[in-house]
Amino acid sequence: MSSFTVNIVTPSGSVYNEEAKFLVANTVVGSLGVLPNHAPLISPLKIDAVRIDLADENESDWVAVNGGIIEIRDNVVSIVANSAETQHDIDVSRAEEAKQRAAAKIEKAKSEQDQSVDLARAEVALIRAINRLKVANK
Ligand code: ATP
Repeated sequence: MSSFTVNIVTPSGSVYNEEAKFLVANTVVGSLGVLPNHAPLISPLKIDAVRIDLADENESDWVAVNGGIIEIRDNVVSIVANSAETQHDIDVSRAEEAKQRAAAKIEKAKSEQDQSVDLARAEVALIRAINRLKVANK
């Protein structure tokens, strides 16, 4: 088989379903390239862009995937994440605002040692926003 199915699912449902000839994702242990007939695998993902090279076109799709899990089995790549957005679904101003908000919270937490601000949460929110902006600008 010269292609495989890519299915990206979030609590809101399926956000992406296409046939691909290659995929690149960033797992917690490093970058993962997937070709057809890949061996079975399950791995946690980092918050990062996933690139999907479409089976029938000389084009790539980019999806901002906010962590989650990748599972490869029987020529199907399933990604399950709390949230994921395709390039054209990303609201750039919303991501810009989220980035500013998170950066301000981090600044506040660091300068004032303000315990009411959850630094780790703000740092992850910043990474999510930067990832969305990166994908929107691909
Ligand atoms: P925000 O602070 O803007 O809500 P967030 O990172 O806290 O951002 P999430 O909790 O990751 O948002 O996602 C909540 C829902 O909103 C998900 O369905 C996600 O796909 C969607 N979403 C978040 N940010 C954007 C964006 N910039 N463009 C499009 N959809 C977004």
